[in-house]
Amino acid sequence: MPRFALLLTLLFAPVLSAQQPPPPAIDSIALWNDFTALSADSMEGRRTGTRGGASARAYLVRRLTAAGVEPLVPGYVQHFDAGGRDTSSRDGVNVLGVVRGADTSRVIVISAHFDHLGVRNGQVYNGADDNASGTAAVLALAAAYAAQPPKHSMIFAFFDGEEAGMHGSRAFVERPPIPRRRIVANVNLDMVARLDKNELCAAGATPYPFFRPLLRATAAAAPVKLRMGHDLSTPDGLDNWTSLSDHASFHAVGIPFVYFGVEDHPDYHRVTDDAERVDAGRYLAAVRTIGDFLRRLDGDLEKVVPGRRQP
Ligand SMILES: [Zn+2]
Repeated sequence: MPRFALLLTLLFAPVLSAQQPPPPAIDSIALWNDFTALSADSMEGRRTGTRGGASARAYLVRRLTAAGVEPLVPGYVQHFDAGGRDTSSRDGVNVLGVVRGADTSRVIVISAHFDHLGVRNGQVYNGADDNASGTAAVLALAAAYAAQPPKHSMIFAFFDGEEAGMHGSRAFVERPPIPRRRIVANVNLDMVARLDKNELCAAGATPYPFFRPLLRATAAAAPVKLRMGHDLSTPDGLDNWTSLSDHASFHAVGIPFVYFGVEDHPDYHRVTDDAERVDAGRYLAAVRTIGDFLRRLDGDLEKVVPGRRQP
């Protein structure tokens, strides 16, 4: 390196690093491989308490271990009662990893549910968009942050039992492995691959308006159309998604959330929700957009999320 370049690097490196952290480096090949593996027939639709659910869980544990993401709980697994009719379907298992930041006092939980509908009448419901897409995206974000640690600690949560009523996320917030007051935000991903109109939605800025400037800045730089909404109890022409996925469990105990997802599509909860129907480029663009939001949130967490009154 020429001497002046070295000098410039030394002069500006601290300034740059004192500003925003870099965006998480998403491994696009790993993202696609994880997405197709999780939505393959061999996962048998990943229903809670089934062999397919156990395969998906084992896959997540393997991938987190390989990426160097630490277990938040022994073996990464948190068992809970999933409320099913028989013993096996009651056995819900969340998979929980953590990447420690320089500041461990405030923690962001990045989540996706990995369960889906299983096999019905001999047909496998692969749930590619719902929610192999969010699951593979959270894996990619976890791997990126394990390689390049964030400012604030991040928990990467893969919830089970969502399809039957968000049992996994509720168990997590009711019995959190760390003191709940340290969890200051939830970023939840559910159905983030089917950007049929190149549009991704972000809900949460109406109940938690301090997220709005971050979402606006993210939208301005995003390779997809990022649209805020779906979080009003009064009609605004959009359905209210506040209670429709795992972020609802965080919202219920006063933890601010941002939920990323797409509008319902004809394959939603149908046997046709397959990886073949996903445009890889748009899916990657959605995950990069979410990663960019996460970096902004991590960079400005103290300024953005106010101190909460703790229940
Ligand atoms: Zn879902």
